Amino acid sequence: MNVTALATPAPERRLALVPAVVERLVQAGHEVRLPRGYGEPLRLADAEYERAGAIVDDDAASTADLVLVMAPPAVEALTSLRPEAIVAGFLDPFFQHDLVRALAERGLRSLCVELMPRTTIAQKMDALSSQASLAGYAAVLLAAERIDKAFPMMTTPAGTIAPARVFVIGVGVAGLQAIATAKRLGARVDAYDTRPVVEEQVRSLGGRFVTFDVGETGQTEGGYARELTAEQLERQREQMAKVVAGADVVITTAQVFGRRAPRLLGAREIDGMRPGSVVVDLAASSGGNVEGSVAGEEVVTTGGVRIIGSHPMPAKVARDASLMYANNLFHLVTHAFDDGVLRGPDDDPIVDGVLLTADGVVRSEAVRTALEGSTP
Ligand code: NAD
Repeated sequence: MNVTALATPAPERRLALVPAVVERLVQAGHEVRLPRGYGEPLRLADAEYERAGAIVDDDAASTADLVLVMAPPAVEALTSLRPEAIVAGFLDPFFQHDLVRALAERGLRSLCVELMPRTTIAQKMDALSSQASLAGYAAVLLAAERIDKAFPMMTTPAGTIAPARVFVIGVGVAGLQAIATAKRLGARVDAYDTRPVVEEQVRSLGGRFVTFDVGETGQTEGGYARELTAEQLERQREQMAKVVAGADVVITTAQVFGRRAPRLLGAREIDGMRPGSVVVDLAASSGGNVEGSVAGEEVVTTGGVRIIGSHPMPAKVARDASLMYANNLFHLVTHAFDDGVLRGPDDDPIVDGVLLTADGVVRSEAVRTALEGSTP
């Protein structure tokens, strides 16, 4: 196949292809063409891609069979693609309605990694997990850098410093990595999730799982959290307020598949925190877990609490994030195509999961529902 990747505009610094993965694609018999300067966000020279077997070609997109993207492309970028081209990568389908409509209207097929089934066989193609893991790590480092106290306990002749108290809300892939990272830095970590099954995982990382009575919770067959009602979320906020007030750092990671992120902390809970404390909202770009958080920005409240909506968080460790993402895409390409032909969704559960648009229609029912709720 003729494979290319679209350049990613700032502030995104991650790439869909790195030289090591270009080499693997070329070895697997694909031709890789990339626009000049593709690797610039990571200071990777064209020559490095060429050494890996890529051809530098500014018109690569117009001849490609497969177009890899790190972030949802601009709708205008689709006009240069062949009608047979397949677009693959992060497409943010529940929020990028115009893009999804344009993909369908142009009859383009698209493979959306956000729709990857969370199954064992799909793990190596699971870009949500690879990036969430790095996001959890980066969120803790950012909080540690921004807060005005040390993370570990220190006993010194000048006095004893208490360990920082970190509260992680939402213990999925990002939350687990956040707990592990905060523990490694010496913090005391509390964690909460509406899925009680994660309690054991929190304990195994040395964290304390806190429980709140919010009525019936649980998870879907796919392993995602069920959405709480507005009343349940209010009960959760009320009960969480005390733990939040005692925390130096709160990291929120809660998502509900296909919906706006749940509002976990309101102004009341934030106002209860000590001045100088830090809240990192990893869901800032999908609606925000925290009242007042802004994607890509840091806001300090009048009470002196710093709310970090940094986005995209994995871009803070863009080199590793790019390698993991490119590997995820390599495995997807290897799995989903047979001799350059995309497997049929009826024959393969992974293709069935990720194939977002084909034959002029949006295949995912969850995305169709989201589109119906918005005007073109
Ligand atoms: P996610 O990003 O959708 O959500 C993050 C966390 O927020 C989840 O743990 C969720 O339960 C939690 N959450 C949602 N609403 C909440 C609320 N009101 N309060 C507190 N927490 C709330 O989740 P994810 O990290 O993508 O993981 C989802 C599930 O999939 C997990 O069970 C994970 O272990 C599993 N998973 C499985 C595989 C696999 O088997 N291949 C791969 C990745 C993830």
